[in-house]
Amino acid sequence: MLRTVQGVVIGVREQGENDRIVKVLSPEMGVIEITAKGAKKQNSSANSTSQLFACADFCFNERKGRYYLNSSSVKRIFYGLRLDVEKVALASYMAQAIGFAVTENQTAGDAYRLFMNSLYMLAERGGECGFVKLVFELRLTAVLGMLPNLLGCAECFRFEDVELTFIVNRGIFLCGEHLADRRRHDDICVEVSRGIFDAMQFICLADMKKVFNFKLSGNALEKLGFICEKYFLHMMGRGFKTLDFYKSIAK
Ligand SMILES: [Zn+2]
Repeated sequence: MLRTVQGVVIGVREQGENDRIVKVLSPEMGVIEITAKGAKKQNSSANSTSQLFACADFCFNERKGRYYLNSSSVKRIFYGLRLDVEKVALASYMAQAIGFAVTENQTAGDAYRLFMNSLYMLAERGGECGFVKLVFELRLTAVLGMLPNLLGCAECFRFEDVELTFIVNRGIFLCGEHLADRRRHDDICVEVSRGIFDAMQFICLADMKKVFNFKLSGNALEKLGFICEKYFLHMMGRGFKTLDFYKSIAK
């Protein structure tokens, strides 16, 4: 039985002389692996659709629990990515993160749209890497149901006229008063301005199409970047080699 899904390639492994195994993120099926026979041959139609970050319709059949590509038609290639090492490195990190966080047989419409929007921002809208990265990391935690408690201080719910501190390892905010008596010795605490608090709320809750539509000053953005990365890695419970590489070359 043939099945067709739209998807984006988030991983590619070479197999033998001519074949590739591609990891595809699709809205309907989550992350699946498809073997593309002969894809390494220049004249194969699967040559372009079996490359990292290619977005395509993949038509495949299933044999003994594995998927084999029958045909594919390219929808979008993010050419703008390939010209910039830093952007490719960031996109590779996002792809690895998705590949870890999303599994097969789960609907992944939001993860798909977040990843596609992030690639689009990077490749075609001149999005700054640091900015795209923090939005991706924080929104992905929300997509996965692990968003921080964004109501304000977790004890008194205030967010106006109080100094808020984000407790990275617990995903909550505390006001000055409650921080004093609720802080644990191993808490990772970052003081946040109202602008940062609002931005975190926006990133987690805004319509997916608008998730990049906000502004924050340079210093605040840097701090938010620190928070989003720490929080994301804490929620994932691991690091990523692709992130280490991105950070080694990021401007
Ligand atoms: Zn409080």
